[in-house]
Amino acid sequence: MAQSNPKLDLWPYEEARKLIERVRDYPPERAAVFESGFGPSGLPHLGTMGEVLRPAFVRHAYQVLGETRPSRLIVFIDDMDGLRKVPEIIPNRDATAPYLGQPVSRIPDPFGDCHDSFASHMIAQLGSFLAPVDVEYELMRSSETYASGRFDEGLRRILKKHQEIIAIVAPTLRPENRVGWSPFMPLCSNCGQINSTLVTAYHPDRATVEFSCERSFGGAHGCAYKGEQSVLGGRAKVQWKVDWALRWFVLDVDYELYGKDLIDSARLSGQIVRLLGGRPPLGFHFEMYLDEEGRKVSKSVGRGVGVEQWRRYAPIEVLKYFLMLNPRRARKLFLESIPQYVDEYLDALREWSTLDDAARRNSPLEFVLQRDSARRFDSSIGFSLVMNLVPAIGSADRELLWTYLVAYDPKITGDPDTERLARTLMDCAINFYRDFVEPDKKAVALAEHESAQIRALADWLRNNPDATADEIEKSIYDLGREHYDKPGKIFPVIYRALLGQERGPRLGAFIRLATPEKIASALEY
Ligand SMILES: [Zn+2]
Repeated sequence: MAQSNPKLDLWPYEEARKLIERVRDYPPERAAVFESGFGPSGLPHLGTMGEVLRPAFVRHAYQVLGETRPSRLIVFIDDMDGLRKVPEIIPNRDATAPYLGQPVSRIPDPFGDCHDSFASHMIAQLGSFLAPVDVEYELMRSSETYASGRFDEGLRRILKKHQEIIAIVAPTLRPENRVGWSPFMPLCSNCGQINSTLVTAYHPDRATVEFSCERSFGGAHGCAYKGEQSVLGGRAKVQWKVDWALRWFVLDVDYELYGKDLIDSARLSGQIVRLLGGRPPLGFHFEMYLDEEGRKVSKSVGRGVGVEQWRRYAPIEVLKYFLMLNPRRARKLFLESIPQYVDEYLDALREWSTLDDAARRNSPLEFVLQRDSARRFDSSIGFSLVMNLVPAIGSADRELLWTYLVAYDPKITGDPDTERLARTLMDCAINFYRDFVEPDKKAVALAEHESAQIRALADWLRNNPDATADEIEKSIYDLGREHYDKPGKIFPVIYRALLGQERGPRLGAFIRLATPEKIASALEY
């Protein structure tokens, strides 16, 4: 195999080069820091997966480029955030309602007593959610970081510069939110709410604010307590855009990716971190996912595809492959689009096994393959083909389906990796069929004369259960000759009836393998 020396130009490499430039003059022991945020007021979702994996891809590129400086990927959990509304997804929503406005780190676990708080439950979910993708990260909890005093120096600076921060943020708010806006959200020492407090005076000299617990939102109300308290040690948090800047400043964050919806927040947080004496991280915004009608898929809405679904309908590597595609391009993502990404992934894998080590570094699979991933797929079978065979043969007969796939391409049993991946594809196709196609299987619309031809074929098959592949093929030609000027015109009709498409495998061999009886019953029109 010839040694190639390709320019490494995938987007994570381009990002990593900028990062290497940024950290060039750091002392050797200072790590390059990647950050990603997770809001534990809800369950992790596909967006979360992208927010953790994409910086991890850049971090991998940073290592591939030979950078010896250590690096860290911090997943920062904003568990000081107050619960603004009771999520739809939790059980016993009434039991959580009294805790509205309190930080999620202080709200009991709505899913039972499995964890010490609402936030801990969601964080555990995040852990099991990320486990299958083999990504290395550190969790950092906002509640612990504030309480430990690690944010105190930054909080003192924010307090000292509160007027300048207000001058940056207030003009960007709706008029009704401008009045009384403060960077600080004191945790009410009387009722425990954090969204209810209104700051009335600042005392940078003693690191305190005065506040009145009087705001109402989403059905929760302040307790009317008034007092003065320290902003240090977890007795207050700062508002989101300020909080982002505080993390960048205190944790020395070098790199962060965020969704397009946060462009304005990132710009403001960048101004604030400079005011504190820090430097905004590198990074860029990525495009959002769109549904089949081109609408933005948000975490809470609609038919957005979940990670659990990906795992049921496609190998996990395909999800990683999807997230490796250029993040600056908006992509449609809906269930029916999964097979297309699987086929792209199979193409990439076929190519990958022909490349030398150097060229492999510039394949998306450098970032996607895991320790246990199949490393070759030495077959021409595509996922779309498997998806089309399942309806013809039915989901119950796994072994028959496998027999057919082997007959179609004997190379799928040629090596263990190819066979393992082919079996995974088959199982995914069966899941897809069982979940979506079978329940509302509708007959393909055939014209009356076409239905009659299909019934005639089904009758012939029923009467000739032992026919050979050649005999079946011949009977189909006879049928075609009877009804059309060219006998071949019967084939698209049969494929449509059987597979819902215009083309398909050689019918004689296919029907023999699947057995004439089975095909006859699949052809009941
Ligand atoms: Zn209160």
